[in-house]
Amino acid sequence: MTVPELPCEITVIRSRRKTLAAEIRRDGALIVRAPLRLPEAEIRRFLHEKSAWIRSHLAKQQALREQLAQMPAFTQEELAALRQQAQHTIPARVSYYAARLGVTYGRITLRFQKTRWGSCSAAGNLNFNCLLMLAPPRVLDSVVVHELCHRIHPDHSRAFYAEIRRVFPDYAQCHGWLRQNGARLIGRLPD
Ligand SMILES: [Zn+2]
Repeated sequence: MTVPELPCEITVIRSRRKTLAAEIRRDGALIVRAPLRLPEAEIRRFLHEKSAWIRSHLAKQQALREQLAQMPAFTQEELAALRQQAQHTIPARVSYYAARLGVTYGRITLRFQKTRWGSCSAAGNLNFNCLLMLAPPRVLDSVVVHELCHRIHPDHSRAFYAEIRRVFPDYAQCHGWLRQNGARLIGRLPD
């Protein structure tokens, strides 16, 4: 759905609810939650009333994106500090979630990587990107849980994601954060 006064794609999700609600995701997409049979004209009227609020929110997001895009490459000192922080933080998160999932694991390797946030080898050795220290803590945990769930399912099957959601219900949101912000962090790694 599109509305002339709003510069974004609008997704309408209908469900058994009684009220209308609008939500702007981090990636700038607008989600409208609406009752099952509410006429589309009502939704348009609602969006029209909210359009000033939505536009100002989108403008703020855009300003933040531009500000972050201008950030310089990390210095060696910054990278060393992040690595140290990762060494203090990530093994403890792995140990916590391994216990919750009831899985074992091998060695944990922490490094700066341009292509991945984490991996899990067939032998159970885990690898994490130190840049995760710049993500919200919950996002770091979501990567830890993803890799540990590969100890149960070595694939990306439905069963794999069901297992993730069992211990980590907001996984999709965290994954979305990485999709949205990850490239900016990786872009600041020196060549
Ligand atoms: Zn995976």
